[in-house]
Amino acid sequence: MRLPIYMDYHATTPVDARVVEAMLPYFTENFGNAASRHHQYGWKADEAVENARAVIARPIRAETREIYFTSGATESNNLAIKGVAESYRRKGDHIITCTTEHNAVLDVCRRLEKQGFRVTYVPVDEYGLVDPNNISKAITDKTILVSLMTANNEIGTIHPIETVGTLCREKEILFHTDATQAVGKIPVDVQSMNIDLMSFSAHKIYGPKGVGALYVRRRNPRVRLTPQIDGGGHENGLRSGTLNVPGIVGFGKALEICVDVMEDESKWLSELRDRLKQLFFDGLDDIFLNGHPELRLRHNLHVSFTGVEAEVLMMEMKEVAVSSGAACTTASPEPSHVLRALGFGDDRIHSSIRFGLGRFTKEEEVGYVAERVIEAVGRFRALSPARTVARSGSRTGRAPVPVD
Ligand code: PMP
Repeated sequence: MRLPIYMDYHATTPVDARVVEAMLPYFTENFGNAASRHHQYGWKADEAVENARAVIARPIRAETREIYFTSGATESNNLAIKGVAESYRRKGDHIITCTTEHNAVLDVCRRLEKQGFRVTYVPVDEYGLVDPNNISKAITDKTILVSLMTANNEIGTIHPIETVGTLCREKEILFHTDATQAVGKIPVDVQSMNIDLMSFSAHKIYGPKGVGALYVRRRNPRVRLTPQIDGGGHENGLRSGTLNVPGIVGFGKALEICVDVMEDESKWLSELRDRLKQLFFDGLDDIFLNGHPELRLRHNLHVSFTGVEAEVLMMEMKEVAVSSGAACTTASPEPSHVLRALGFGDDRIHSSIRFGLGRFTKEEEVGYVAERVIEAVGRFRALSPARTVARSGSRTGRAPVPVD
């Protein structure tokens, strides 16, 4: 078994070998600038970009020209939300989002608040699920945009995107979804879900880092966005900058593979994930599943090991690469705002670990990780028997009322 074992597939994924292979020629022989109009090098690069654009548009049921390439989902979220805010300011100054969004949405909203916009942060229930009625109630005649992520990057909860999309369409409010954790993992359809803008990223789907896309609806309604990066007028004037041709080619190939294998992959990944969960719940008392028991990404498992500091646990198991709810943004050691939004107290938050499985996770790795975690949790608990725990609910896999 290769150590350390990687179980942090929500943070990023390895690039699939088939993706690397597809990208390679675009670093060397086909290195042209896709904007060079006067020679074959440029034409070849442009052809590869347009091919990738079509490949990416198809499975989400977008038109090819509705896909704009960016540097990743952070930039896509910035462009979508700031772009709408600037363009529609005369129509209204109110935006609705959710408390468990990625910081690439929340921080954009906070900046807009400083510029005079009003933002409503709709709460979630203890499973991290938003109630569409709360979105409906928050809508005013000044609301221009609702931004709600498709699936949460920490706890894996999948929101009722179709219901919210339909609601927004009826009220003629633009709907943006950050689908970074969902595209390539679960079916996402911008038509049936009434999505007007959608952000996603290659490095979460076995593609390269530093390339992403924004879907922008062109018809019914036509979305108008103010560009956030000015320059040579690339991407139809919406996002200037020389295109990352190898990255875009890799993005296309990565999504093509994900769509091909989605059904099988999500089935066996959910079996592996369920096995890991079962091993934990069989081997340990006083542990809690975080996130929704059913409406969640198939490869996500998020567990609180009551009485044990996640940071300490992770330091102890250096051969297991996982992530904790306590330090999940690069810049800050603050407890996860997502777990806070679920109503959890410090103990629950600081004892939480996210296990993200993926394409290259092996059965024996699941067994190894379960064994290591169970052994380490048992040992730490024996060292500090004074922990206070709520004993109800741990075996059901359902989120209990927070213990503190
Ligand atoms: N949104 C979500 C839900 C994410 O999980 C991430 C990546 N952690 C991002 C946005 C940012 O994506 P990128 O790394 O492509 O900028």
